[in-house]
Amino acid sequence: MTYRLLFALLAISLTACSSTLKRTPSTNTAATLNSEQALRIQYLGVGGHIISVGERHVIAAPSFTNPHFLLSGPFMPLSSDHDKVDRYMPKVPNAEMLLVGHAHYDHLLDVPRVATQQAPNVRIYGSQTTVNTLSAALDPDRLVAMNTIMASGSTPGQWLYNQQRDVRIMAIESGHAPHIAGIKFMSGTVPKPLSDLPWHSFGWKEGQTLAFLIDFLDASGNIQHRVYYQDAASQAPLGLLPQLADNKRVDVAILCPASFSQVEDYPEAIVRDTGARHFILGHWEDFFANDLEGEQRFVRLTDEDEFIQRLEQSMPDDSRWVLPALFTTYTFEPTS
Ligand SMILES: [Zn+2]
Repeated sequence: MTYRLLFALLAISLTACSSTLKRTPSTNTAATLNSEQALRIQYLGVGGHIISVGERHVIAAPSFTNPHFLLSGPFMPLSSDHDKVDRYMPKVPNAEMLLVGHAHYDHLLDVPRVATQQAPNVRIYGSQTTVNTLSAALDPDRLVAMNTIMASGSTPGQWLYNQQRDVRIMAIESGHAPHIAGIKFMSGTVPKPLSDLPWHSFGWKEGQTLAFLIDFLDASGNIQHRVYYQDAASQAPLGLLPQLADNKRVDVAILCPASFSQVEDYPEAIVRDTGARHFILGHWEDFFANDLEGEQRFVRLTDEDEFIQRLEQSMPDDSRWVLPALFTTYTFEPTS
């Protein structure tokens, strides 16, 4: 297959073995890389990533419970598998930010466990629906709703910083493709804080879907790395970048092949708009009851070859892409 060939040609450095058995963050074994300044992105499956520079980490909401398809329907009891989360989620105690693109169960169900066990110092940034849903499990001080400060169209949103002010994030108004045949499940919002977490999948409502820009900054406030992240295929112009004065090119854009054929011009619109140096395909595996240590299949009802062909046709000549194996870390050199 095309992507297997491309794997070998990628200019980016693969610092972990490609084994799907990897359970913990990979160590940087590439001697040529400046580990303090390099950007590292570890794929955790579904929408989950740990995005790091040195000891600075931003987490994109992971999913490990991954129930069987039949248990994902309405009114089938569903709860986070804490043992599984504890086994597979790396410990990231100094992470301050955890980003949630939308509030469906495959993005949010395991977040309360992660936020109490593996990443106890994160605040969670997402939609008001994400905040209202998680209010049942986490201190409201740790939940940040981005709806009123997200970028919309060409208008930038508000940057929010970590304590050291060397990492910042901006939410972007985005969208969520229908799941199949133009039908989207679990849509809608949660207008008020919940007192109990939803007990079945259809209680985990989408809310406002967001994309994010993540900047890592040097001591002078210059952008070292810029990452674009989305966890759902969006119908442009939703998800496109706002107009930013810095004109910084996106270094890595994390895209979402799942359900891409349900929207027009995806991934082309995002690929052209971000013009990223590297594209990572997230949320690509069929996660229903998947074995996190086994071979992963591409998400069902999705044409992998078509997605890759359209990505390759629309990306800049100097860009590369990768379909990461679970728990693999990729490392990217700084460009300036
Ligand atoms: Zn979703």
